[in-house]
Amino acid sequence: MARRPILAANWKMQKTVPEALAFAADFLPRVKDAQADVVLAPPATALHALGQALAGSNVALAAQNVNPEAKGAFTGEISPDMLVDVGCGYGIVGHSERRTLYGETDEFVAAKAAALFARDIVPIVCVGESLEQREAGQTLSFVGGQIAGSLARIPSERAAEVVVAYEPIWAIGTGKTATPEMAQEVHAAIRGRLGELFGADGEAIRIQYGGSVKPENVVELMAQADIDGALVGGASLEPESFAAIALFDR
Ligand code: PEP
Repeated sequence: MARRPILAANWKMQKTVPEALAFAADFLPRVKDAQADVVLAPPATALHALGQALAGSNVALAAQNVNPEAKGAFTGEISPDMLVDVGCGYGIVGHSERRTLYGETDEFVAAKAAALFARDIVPIVCVGESLEQREAGQTLSFVGGQIAGSLARIPSERAAEVVVAYEPIWAIGTGKTATPEMAQEVHAAIRGRLGELFGADGEAIRIQYGGSVKPENVVELMAQADIDGALVGGASLEPESFAAIALFDR
């Protein structure tokens, strides 16, 4: 099945508002003819301004996090409605940094993904094993469990829209990339699990790879049968480098 590629930038805790706007001014003309979905996830403080800069362009806005509750006493948190307000089309949930640094569970990630869908924001649901799990031969069972747990509350009639990001923790920000074959093995297993959960819609779900993706390795990764995109940290911080990734098929 032909799945439209999706290349997303995760800026994490980087870029002020002026820096985000300067990025957009340089980046948008470079990618105006991209044949893929292109997404930028700035820090929360830059969502509003960047959303305005991206309005009417072919580049979508994503949040890096969300609280599943609609409103209330959750100091420091941001609700799905607030993300709708600033023009988010996507929301990253379950990034390994949030799972490991802030103790987020599959259950919490599932609640976030469902809350985003309820507001018509597409969740990008991240999964991935640690180095210890890989070395213990637990990668496929662990990631399969994360998929079942984190997607447990996705409405089945909308399952085809969800985006999954497979990000082996040992490859994030380390310069170590899974080889295309290693990544494909896990993507194929994820595809199988998605089929068990969602039937034929599992074929339509896009699965991004994340972990030290750069202009130099994106083509080889994207050539794999079940790799439909990339979630990019470090190499997304410069317009030239992320544009080269977004235009991987040129
Ligand atoms: C990420 O954090 O989602 C990521 C993949 O980072 P990097 O590209 O820097 O490894």
